[in-house]
Amino acid sequence: MRRSNEMVSPTVDLLKEQLPVQQEPLVLSGDVRTGLVLVDVVNGFCTVGAGNLAPKQPNKQIAGMVAEAVRLARAFCERKMPVFAFLDTHHPDIPEHPYPPHCIIGTDEANLVPELQWLENEPNATLRRKDCIDGFIGSIEKDGSNIFVDWVQRHQIKSVLVVGICTDICVLDFVSSAFSARNRGILAPLEDVIVYSRGCATFDLPVHVAQASKDLIAHPQELMHHIGLYIATGRGAKVASEVLFAA
Ligand SMILES: [Zn+2]
Repeated sequence: MRRSNEMVSPTVDLLKEQLPVQQEPLVLSGDVRTGLVLVDVVNGFCTVGAGNLAPKQPNKQIAGMVAEAVRLARAFCERKMPVFAFLDTHHPDIPEHPYPPHCIIGTDEANLVPELQWLENEPNATLRRKDCIDGFIGSIEKDGSNIFVDWVQRHQIKSVLVVGICTDICVLDFVSSAFSARNRGILAPLEDVIVYSRGCATFDLPVHVAQASKDLIAHPQELMHHIGLYIATGRGAKVASEVLFAA
């Protein structure tokens, strides 16, 4: 039996039926001030063979996410719409349990994928290295200010569109915190958080691989991506099936 991340599983289909995620196309017209948030589109999570948490072989969901992240980053910058990028980056002496060492500061793992390197010199983009899962927490400065909150206020952003990796980890935690912050009134004028499903991805650790090692816990990609979207909607997020720009 062929096993790959492209395998269609009747179990996953059944679970998707039980945990429905409503999705609609998003058309950006410029009427609502929208910012793009890129979560960890770095080599350490996206580039084949780049490290402990990078895909071991080409992965369709991750490659699709990178392509959409690049397309949207370009489209936002062309329109002078604000872009914010998180880059997972860790000090070698501060491990992030339960994950193995990854995205160590100064290595290429902690850098944006080659197709997004140009963002480093893009005045329209704000880059933030973070040493924890949740980008909202990772945006807190020593003086208590928050780089992400400042970005939202500076650009008067009403809606953020979130893409990146992993749907059920860094993306989900950031989205959840953004809603808590919004409800506490510290993220004005932000109203909406929209997660773009094809602009997000998660890693693949199939059950049959995990079962072969006592140290591994299964993380089936298609299912966990879906569950990430499902929980995000439970927190209040909208999910976009595609992202278009009005002429
Ligand atoms: Zn990390």
